[in-house]
Amino acid sequence: MNDSTKPYQISALSAEFIDPSEEQAFRTYIRPLAARSLRVALIVWGSLLLLFAGQDWQSLGWSADFKTLLACRVLQAGMLFTFAFMLGRKPQLVSSGRVVTVLEIIGFFLFMPVYFLLPEVAAFTVGVIGLMLLSMFLLIPNRLLLTLFAALTGLALTLSCMALNGRGVEVLLGAFFILMLPVATGYFAAQQLQTVRRRQYAMFNQAKEANRALQAEVERRELLEQELKRQATTDPLTGLFNRRQYEMLFRRERERCRRQGTAICVAMVDLDYFKALNDELGHDCGDIALKHVATLFTNQLREGDVVGRFGGEEFIILLPDTGAPEAERVIERLRKTLENTPVTLQGKPRKITATFSISAVLDSETDISETLRRVDEGLYSGKRAGRNRVVMV
Ligand code: GH3
Ligand code: MG
Ligand code: MG
Repeated sequence: MNDSTKPYQISALSAEFIDPSEEQAFRTYIRPLAARSLRVALIVWGSLLLLFAGQDWQSLGWSADFKTLLACRVLQAGMLFTFAFMLGRKPQLVSSGRVVTVLEIIGFFLFMPVYFLLPEVAAFTVGVIGLMLLSMFLLIPNRLLLTLFAALTGLALTLSCMALNGRGVEVLLGAFFILMLPVATGYFAAQQLQTVRRRQYAMFNQAKEANRALQAEVERRELLEQELKRQATTDPLTGLFNRRQYEMLFRRERERCRRQGTAICVAMVDLDYFKALNDELGHDCGDIALKHVATLFTNQLREGDVVGRFGGEEFIILLPDTGAPEAERVIERLRKTLENTPVTLQGKPRKITATFSISAVLDSETDISETLRRVDEGLYSGKRAGRNRVVMV
């Protein structure tokens, strides 16, 4: 990775981000603040310009020269106030720095008549220009290099005016060094300030990015955890609860029903002649049929009922808060629905039936395997009696 591609690199010369899109984003981020401080600076600048008309009047009285200067001051203050007003409506004008730079340069031009009309206060004027140069860097929000350009233009204009006024080379050199002082001070101070602001912004953004990455990682892990949990608790083919999970759910529901004084029933289901279906149509069709049965059971039963895959083509159904007569009705309805809902295999409907055996869990049975031993016997008698039936144990 070379330097220009590192994120948040700041140029020492311009105190701006080297990456234009980062710089753009930063300026958009500080725009409201920059627009506000620029408005204040423009209003103060314009007001000071008008205020100094008093000094012109003292020197020139109500003369034509005074009026010329006053016109310059009013024109410039008018421009500044107009721009301040426009900024209130369109803060984006602050971003590129172009308008401010143009205003600053026009400002220097409009200041020029002072040299010719008030030559006796030239030294004072140079002082004022020095202050203006410094304030441009420190008080007027603008891009550093644009401010430097405007300041150097102002300095060149000032020296030109002084030369046109007949000042000697030494005086001009002296003025140059005196005025370079606020330019250099202002440039370095603003360079530091702008760099610090951008560093803070970069740190803030990096913290935000780290936070986002962390959040994404947390979400990813949560999803992974959910997926692992699902894999650990369900049968991959049918999505039904696996043995470990329905055994756990049995213990939980059994305990709850005991506390609430309600009955709980367990049903065991074995599909009829399933081997024949596999042999005839293939194992894949057998899998489709198993999924069909699983979906049908899940959709037909209540929310609180538990459907699990015991293994092979055998299923377990837990019916909490259900007594034996009601369980028989529920399971009989399920048997009929299965019988009447054929699965489509190789483009043809295929009827699937199952033998069901149900029992209410006895008080002495705390483990599902004890109940299942009894229920399993019922299943055999159901098979022997001709299949596709419900047996109560
Ligand atoms: P019965 O009516 O007596 O229950 O007959 P059956 O053919 O269903 O009984 P049996 O237990 O002999 O056969 C069960 C068959 O279920 C054996 C096997 O081919 C099939 N089987 C078990 N697990 C799966 C499975 O995950 N996928 C598929 N496709 N078939 C399975
Ligand atoms: Mg079987
Ligand atoms: Mg079977």
